[in-house]
Amino acid sequence: MIHPATLIPGDGIGPEVADATVRVIECTGVSIEWERIELNAAIITESGKHLPPAVLGSLARTHVGLKGPVTTPVAGGFQSVNVSLRKQLDLFANVRPVRKLPGLKSRYEDVPIDIVIFRENTEDLYAGLEHEVVANVVTSLKVITRTASERIARYAFQYAKSAGRKKITAVHKANIMKLSDGLFLKCCREVSREFPQIEYTELIVDNAAMQLVMKPEQFDVLLMPNLYGDIVSDLAAGLVGGLGIVPGANIGERDAVFEAVHGSAPDIAGKGIANPTALMLSSVMMLRHLGEYEAARRLQSAIESVYAERKYLTPDVGGKATTNEFTNAVAAALN
Ligand code: ATP
Repeated sequence: MIHPATLIPGDGIGPEVADATVRVIECTGVSIEWERIELNAAIITESGKHLPPAVLGSLARTHVGLKGPVTTPVAGGFQSVNVSLRKQLDLFANVRPVRKLPGLKSRYEDVPIDIVIFRENTEDLYAGLEHEVVANVVTSLKVITRTASERIARYAFQYAKSAGRKKITAVHKANIMKLSDGLFLKCCREVSREFPQIEYTELIVDNAAMQLVMKPEQFDVLLMPNLYGDIVSDLAAGLVGGLGIVPGANIGERDAVFEAVHGSAPDIAGKGIANPTALMLSSVMMLRHLGEYEAARRLQSAIESVYAERKYLTPDVGGKATTNEFTNAVAAALN
């Protein structure tokens, strides 16, 4: 069977890690007919559209995407393409499994870390509703709705149930944002009652950050609104070896776009040393989504075997290999 899918390499290190990932997917023997759509700051600025119709048109056909990062200008410039895409396609659930890889040296060497983060993906402060009230006074609206909160909570609980997970921790700041985070929590509590087999706890976000650093092994599934999810994902990535290895999926009712947690990493772009693991593991999630379970298992275990051997790791995880050398090693493990 041939699966149509949209490939958005993005910019910065995006094209490097996307090419590497396409190569190893090919080695699994799964046939994917890629619609490759270029998207970067230059194209966006030229077209005047931060989400060119080619991107949405392709995803409307394929319903599945593999996406590299697209740079978002800081304090001004165009809106985040990543955020817009999630909103436009209503990819409400951002799922980020944070796991250690074999052979990887980390400060948490003897600590078992296996956490899945569920981040609400469409609202919160990412609504982008900012407004200058008078000169030098600016507001930014934090939007939390029952619909979106219930939906992400139910998705996380359903996942926990089907994956045999034991505990969900909702992360919030409802002691300060009593109405907005209060509503989010209320929805999580209500949904939790439909799943009595799963332990449900709550943690204020600042405490959650400290607990994650001090005792990450206590966490199983984390459930949170958009902004905390963004920050906590990077923190959690740091526990297991950094942004180079943590994958992600954006899931909606119709469509799914798989992309790593990391951004475009301009500091290392073009140097040939970006770690493609995070996007490769995102593609493992994509293969499962496509029903290609055996190929997903093989790719995952090929990546793990290259880590266990430690010979071809990229510099971000303590090695000396280039993106290409790491990719060759994964391809060889698959073949
Ligand atoms: P954004 O805000 O766009 O999501 P970010 O805050 O996640 O971006 P990144 O661009 O991902 O930031 O980069 C953060 C740091 O992590 C940089 O030093 C970068 O080089 C490193 N990094 C990120 N991804 C990778 C990767 N795949 N391989 C190696 N290093 C990476």
